Amino acid sequence: MAIEFVDLKRQYQKYKPQIQAQLEEVMSQASFILGAKVKELEETLAQYVGVKYAVGCASGTDALWLALKAYDVKPGDEIITTTFSFIATAEVIAGLKAVPVFVDIDEETYNIRPDQIKAAITAKTRGIIAVNLFGLCADFDQILAIAKERGLFVIEDAAQSFGSEYQGRKACALADMGCTSFFPAKPFGCYGDGGMIFTNDENKARVIRSLRVHGAGQERYQHERVGVNSRLDTLQAAVLLAKWSFFPEEISRRQEIAGYYTKHLRDFVKTPLMPSEDRCVFAQYSVRFQHRKVLMEFLRQNAIPTAIHYPKPLHLQEAFRYLNKGPGSFPSAEKVSEEIFSLPMHPFLESLEQDFIIQSIKTCCERLKTKAGV
Ligand SMILES: *Cc1c(COP(=O)(O)O)cnc(C)c1O
Repeated sequence: MAIEFVDLKRQYQKYKPQIQAQLEEVMSQASFILGAKVKELEETLAQYVGVKYAVGCASGTDALWLALKAYDVKPGDEIITTTFSFIATAEVIAGLKAVPVFVDIDEETYNIRPDQIKAAITAKTRGIIAVNLFGLCADFDQILAIAKERGLFVIEDAAQSFGSEYQGRKACALADMGCTSFFPAKPFGCYGDGGMIFTNDENKARVIRSLRVHGAGQERYQHERVGVNSRLDTLQAAVLLAKWSFFPEEISRRQEIAGYYTKHLRDFVKTPLMPSEDRCVFAQYSVRFQHRKVLMEFLRQNAIPTAIHYPKPLHLQEAFRYLNKGPGSFPSAEKVSEEIFSLPMHPFLESLEQDFIIQSIKTCCERLKTKAGV
């Protein structure tokens, strides 16, 4: 059987009865918009994460957008964020005509550097979006301390880290607001787009609930504010409820697989940091290698899929050229983006498949060594 980068087909085969039963319930009740399933999922996940309020929405990107809107981010406001992430993190800032202020990353964790956040604060800074990249939580102790001192809000982009933990607390509960994504390939994915916002702030939760349904007030067709249509689809909530009981086992499998990769690959490629106390769900298992192109090509020839997260930091993207941050602006992110790539990582990866991936990497590295005469 072919190795998949993320094997959603195996996932469906395994959970099929539970998923079909949930979908059947929604369809036979013909309750397709919000309703009991979305509410049940919001309550279940809020309790799991350990916050008071959870609000489902249409995607992880919308979750970030709604969070910024809840802080009434205005044109010209500066929001500090990492230059090494998926574009959605910064896109939502620019979409509100606010200014994404990029900062560099730590070369071990790949997450935003708190000292650089501090240096980037100006009189226009309103808040910070910190990303838990690949599932590893950012340094929230330091980030929150800086934010508190300077009166800034902190949004946690937990799109890749639902289920991760930082100092005994769950991802999504680490800042003023936590945003996650249920995109199919994320650690807790549905079968389409979906997202959720987590907060302890009752007022902001209420504003976001209103924003996601056209700024609705208490009564029908009374609108308190200009909103959007960004609901979590009821069928997607049903898929997530069906998958919920399997989630702890999926996290354990991800950790086992990551541990096994690291044990066997650490002498060949730069393996990711394995937090000893915190828990990482390994949305991606990303390694660094100087001759990335050669190794990826060798793996491709052996039918092993890989991907690059991410080939270009955000400040070098065409979309952000107007910010005038050229090459050399953020050396760590630039260096990492030239060396990093991700290996197949999902809970259904079998040990024979993992051994084949590991063996292929070793073979290629050994050949490269001989060639170079090392
Ligand atoms: C996936 C992702 C998002 C966006 O989530 P969508 O559900 O795809 O909109 C935002 N931030 C990060 C870091 C992501 O990986």
